[in-house]
Amino acid sequence: MTISVVGAHWIAGEWIPSAGATRFEVVSPVDGTVIGGVPEGGAAAAEAAIAAAQRAFLQSQWAHAPRLRADVLLAQAASVEARKDDLSRLLSIETGKLIGVARMEIAAAVSELRYYAGLARAIAGRMLEIEPGVYSHLTREPAGVAAIITPWNAPAILLVRSLGPALAAGCTVVMKPAPQSSLFHTAFLRCLADIDALPVGVMNSFCEAGSAGGELLVESPDVDVVSFTGSTAVGRRIMAAAAGTLKRLNLELGGKAPAIVFEDCDITTVAPQLAAAGMILAGQQCTAASRVLVHDSCYDALAKALAAALAAMRVGRSDDERSEIGPLIDIRSRDRVRRLVEMHADAAVLKGAVARNLPSGGAYLGPSLLAVEDLTSPVIQEEIFGPVLNIERFSTEAEAVKKANATRYGLAASVWTRDLDRAFRVSRSIRSGTVWLNDHNKLFPEAETGGHRDSGFGRLHGIDGLNEFLVTKHIYHRFGRVRELS
Ligand code: NAD
Repeated sequence: MTISVVGAHWIAGEWIPSAGATRFEVVSPVDGTVIGGVPEGGAAAAEAAIAAAQRAFLQSQWAHAPRLRADVLLAQAASVEARKDDLSRLLSIETGKLIGVARMEIAAAVSELRYYAGLARAIAGRMLEIEPGVYSHLTREPAGVAAIITPWNAPAILLVRSLGPALAAGCTVVMKPAPQSSLFHTAFLRCLADIDALPVGVMNSFCEAGSAGGELLVESPDVDVVSFTGSTAVGRRIMAAAAGTLKRLNLELGGKAPAIVFEDCDITTVAPQLAAAGMILAGQQCTAASRVLVHDSCYDALAKALAAALAAMRVGRSDDERSEIGPLIDIRSRDRVRRLVEMHADAAVLKGAVARNLPSGGAYLGPSLLAVEDLTSPVIQEEIFGPVLNIERFSTEAEAVKKANATRYGLAASVWTRDLDRAFRVSRSIRSGTVWLNDHNKLFPEAETGGHRDSGFGRLHGIDGLNEFLVTKHIYHRFGRVRELS
């Protein structure tokens, strides 16, 4: 592939020249070619970015100007929308995301920015007369400098679902993308930063392949909030590192979404839907269906239909409109998933192979369906993050709920049944931040998402997303009693 893009840092309103800095290369999972280079930001870039964000928070009018913030967010939405085709293409080539899915992600990011532009103008406190003449104002204020650390698998929407509310709330920010999506991040950032009304230092960003800069963001006493999306392992490290400065955290971590299928479903319609729910981003989405729990009476029929639906999915280049499963993020991930499937070959209903007739440097792997029942198995307990579904059986509603809740994760789940009472009962019993009924992977700017237990805490999207970046202040004053009229 012949694209060559350069990543960079945006600090205090300037693109930082990268000459002389160590660079890391970004490899496309589509065919294994190097598509660009990125300067390593590290601790020095993080320090400069934090200082710029802190200056902007303390010295500009940003925190006090909700209409300006709304205007900036709307201008950012328009800027991204104007460059949506180039952005989608780069997103698809750099991360292996199917081009159609990349287009949807950019459209979702535009929608999210517009949503938070609206909310920026609706931040309101309260005022109470506690006793005659004694008043309490409760104001909603921005929390300060927010660090936003994001993963590679959806680098537009996962950035904007933290950035949108942070800016709307009046925070200033430092962003740190994942190395695998640094080129896209830089191109996206050019759209977000290219706004005349944006005060210098309100938005800052740096890239790195290591973790020195990210660690500094978490430990710095000048960062007030960390909004982190990524793996549970790194989330744990961040929580421990943030303890020294008692930092406010929002952790959006891994998932292991169960899809519970009851016996009253139409298997022929549900099977392809479940296959698509599991194979979204080649299974590399935190909410992707990864366990299918199915009632005994239709287990055999569903296993057969699901294996057929998966086998029929077309594995191909992410820039080919006909593809239904793109490459994984890199060869290392593909080989890790392939090994795991090999280790459980005796439980394989369908075993995905390394796809032929595709670029040999690409990270392609066909879909697998395993039938592991042992609840302690890593297939059930760990996030695989690849094109693998596991099918398990249950005989009662209680057993279905118990099995669904049998992992440490609690991010998302789905319930498939025509019985509305049962759908509601089961969805209330599942310990996860989201439950879809007869559908999966439906995400909206207006609807909060987040986790339980190992999937993290805090909520993004929706009004709760804004609250992650706001603090309430109590201002007391004794104004005196209102004079009596007679
Ligand atoms: P990751 O945890 O490896 O990396 C996430 C980010 O953290 C990257 O920017 C990385 O450079 C940075 N990082 C790594 N070590 C750090 C440290 N010590 N201090 C500070 N920052 C550090 O995750 P990934 O592989 O990029 O993404 C995949 C993971 O993200 C999966 O587990 C997936 O489930 C999860 N995810 C969760 C959600 C959600 O909404 N809950 C959404 C998307 C992805």
